Amino acid sequence: MTDPVPRPAPQADRDSVPFWEGVEAGELRVQQCDACGRLRWPPREICGRCRSTASTWRALSGAGRIDSWIVAHQVFHPAFADSVPYTVLQVAVDEQPDIQMIGLYEGEGEPAFGMAVRAVFVRGSNGAMLVHWTPSPG
Ligand SMILES: [Zn+2]
Repeated sequence: MTDPVPRPAPQADRDSVPFWEGVEAGELRVQQCDACGRLRWPPREICGRCRSTASTWRALSGAGRIDSWIVAHQVFHPAFADSVPYTVLQVAVDEQPDIQMIGLYEGEGEPAFGMAVRAVFVRGSNGAMLVHWTPSPG
């Protein structure tokens, strides 16, 4: 079914282009500081730990754990009128749990704090590839 109003698509900025290219390729990519090795999220020019501007993009496993979530019952944008209620997760990625990513929950049943999830890549009705999260057994 086609949405009556197009959903807004993510808008990559200078720093996040490699992230969105990764999503399009089915990879969850973050910057890794070339000086101290810390993973950097959200994408930005300078490392929050050591101030280095050098970084390399690397793919994460896509595994994480639910840190928090909300269930949206209110229609905040007309393109989502047929989708409420929907659940949005805050996920701590396994490689560095202080990296918290946001995405729709694609699962049966209720989410739970600490539940293992993995990233899945879903093409939205707006044509953009998006990161959603689904329960991961084990
Ligand atoms: Zn650093």
